[in-house]
Amino acid sequence: MNPAHPERAAATSTSPKLSSKAERFTESVIREMTRLALRYGAVNLSQGFPDFPAPAEIKNAAKAAIDADINQYAITWGAKKFRDAIAAKFERTQGVAIDPEREVTVCCGSTEAMMSSMMAIINPGDEVVVFEPFYENYGPDAILSGATPRFVKLRPPDWTFDPDELAAAFGPATKAIILNTPNNPTGKVFERAEFECIRDLCVRWKCFAITDEIYEHMLYDGARHISLASLEGMRERTLTINALSKTYSVTGWRVGWVIAPPEVTAAIRKVHDFLTVGAAAPLQEAGAFALQLPQSYYDTLAEEYAARRERMLGILGGAGFKCFKPRGAYYIMTDISAFGFPDDVAFAQYLVKEIGVAAVPGSSFYRDPADGRTRLRFTFCKKESTFQAATERLAKLHPSR
Ligand code: GLN
Repeated sequence: MNPAHPERAAATSTSPKLSSKAERFTESVIREMTRLALRYGAVNLSQGFPDFPAPAEIKNAAKAAIDADINQYAITWGAKKFRDAIAAKFERTQGVAIDPEREVTVCCGSTEAMMSSMMAIINPGDEVVVFEPFYENYGPDAILSGATPRFVKLRPPDWTFDPDELAAAFGPATKAIILNTPNNPTGKVFERAEFECIRDLCVRWKCFAITDEIYEHMLYDGARHISLASLEGMRERTLTINALSKTYSVTGWRVGWVIAPPEVTAAIRKVHDFLTVGAAAPLQEAGAFALQLPQSYYDTLAEEYAARRERMLGILGGAGFKCFKPRGAYYIMTDISAFGFPDDVAFAQYLVKEIGVAAVPGSSFYRDPADGRTRLRFTFCKKESTFQAATERLAKLHPSR
């Protein structure tokens, strides 16, 4: 298929026509950057996965589960022990009591949790409000589920939104707002006053909120994570998505979940069942163990990430990048204007091929690529030797070449 001339390709092709939904989005730029990093032997600061070991105790719990022959399907919406642990942790950390029998669906990562959630609530003509820059999956999620996205800008340096702009994005067609806090790619952590503004709009327009809270334990400078479901009036309309991936450094396990009111959960569970049947049973068992770890685990995790953030801010600042200091998550958005490249993609290609460092072009987080033209995202969920290697590579880089 010639992307520049789809109609010409369709006319000459002898193959059946492919899905027009699938034609409307490209492959993931984040995951493409990881492949380029591998091809060029670059230091991979693009895709957000830890390159240090997962905690030994959690790995041991998974191994023990396999040895104990927890190797067949779990209940499609999640092993009871794991759902109980999810409910207990949500109550412990956010003060929201939920029923693990009727309000939790375990999925194959937060990616599937988001997709199943959207497919469970979206009808033709529905709109979803999405803050921009956004995690790139939300675009294809909207297309595949059939929702029309309405974007609302988060503006640097603090990535705040204009309440009037947000209000204008809501209307009778709004089915849900999608937000991610702590935020990928900006590092923004939504605050209570912002949530109250969002809550009032959700209540007024009778719509859902889908919150992706996967970075909830990566917080800096005293930032606090608030679940939107904990606000009065939101528990019955919020779908809270999370996963083992980031908190326990096991992104490859693909175990996530969504917490939602019973009638919403019933629909999500049906979609989930026919999409994937279920997430890996022994890894759910290990998840039940992980979610019961003491507070000290999360304190240490946050401290270690705070140190990595400082390290990466130092490296990038030293190399000439202007950094937007994140308050949460494990990414740093940078301004690359000083390097004099035509756009973010050209610069990212130069960086991965010539300098040997992979990062994500800012345009992949915006609907209009022009909005991300001067930005590049780096991740800092990496070990010291990776930081060291990145420092050496970036020493070859000069602002305004
Ligand atoms: N969430 C991570 C990122 O933004 C990983 C994305 C993925 O490939 N699933 O880099």
